[in-house]
Amino acid sequence: MRTTIDKTIGTIQFSIPKTAWLYFILLPIFWIDFSTLDSKLLLIASILICFTVGLGHSIGLHRGVIHKTFTTSKTVRNIFLYLFVLTGLGSPLHWIKLHYYRDYWQNRLDCPPYFAYKHSLIRDFWWNLHLQFTANDIKRYNIPKEDLNDKWIIWLHKTWYLHNLLFMVFVYLLSDMNTVLIIVFLRMAITILGHWFVGFMTHKYGYARFNIENANESAYNDIILGLFSFGEGFHNNHHAHPNSAKFSLKWYEIDIGWYLIVLLKKLHLIYNVKEVGIANTKKQQAKKNNRIIWSFPWKFKTI
Ligand SMILES: [Zn+2]
Ligand SMILES: [Zn+2]
Repeated sequence: MRTTIDKTIGTIQFSIPKTAWLYFILLPIFWIDFSTLDSKLLLIASILICFTVGLGHSIGLHRGVIHKTFTTSKTVRNIFLYLFVLTGLGSPLHWIKLHYYRDYWQNRLDCPPYFAYKHSLIRDFWWNLHLQFTANDIKRYNIPKEDLNDKWIIWLHKTWYLHNLLFMVFVYLLSDMNTVLIIVFLRMAITILGHWFVGFMTHKYGYARFNIENANESAYNDIILGLFSFGEGFHNNHHAHPNSAKFSLKWYEIDIGWYLIVLLKKLHLIYNVKEVGIANTKKQQAKKNNRIIWSFPWKFKTI
């Protein structure tokens, strides 16, 4: 294998549990009988995606626990983390750590190839969905101790797959196997592949309003992927303003995660929401580009 990371930084290895989980979710979808797919099932799957990917992943884990863009009670935070587990993406602790590793390296010029996005979609499919990075020196990433040692996060880290298996049984008892395949397996397959695809695309293609100085990655925004990923696709905005709860900056950037945050704030479930340009958000050495920089798959341009 090509050297993807310096041995002093950490190791990258093929992960049997990660790969086994991926194909355990992906393969059964070939047995789905789509003739039973009706508007009721689609609605249930969509609501589950809103709760798990929207509230659990984008708001709870990413904007809440990782970037601390708002404050909430421990109970609400724990519910968000539980919803994250039901995305099927894996351990919340794993994703918290990985996010810190990626941010750390992508904001430096000496970013190892594994964390930079100079490679192809196929290679990224292999690297991101089958391999596992283990850091040598976790202290350098400044991951808050309260997160690393959090009892709920550690418990979910150890048991995340059991909750998903229980959820499958629960849906099966209420319905039938084909319904399980649709609202659990298909939903999780879309989530896992969608999450990976949005991450790849928004580091390679789209438009960039900001240039992050002395960084390997400034990332890009994508209007379509942003719309379908609860705002996660406005990734250049996010790299430039990592502790803003709002990922969109213009009217045409539809950030559904942000609308959910506004709703949660109105319901007094979250507070102290940080918003770019309004509350105090740290600018990641971000310089606004004089003009918007575009990157297309057919004419790759780095900024
Ligand atoms: Zn982030
Ligand atoms: Zn990024």
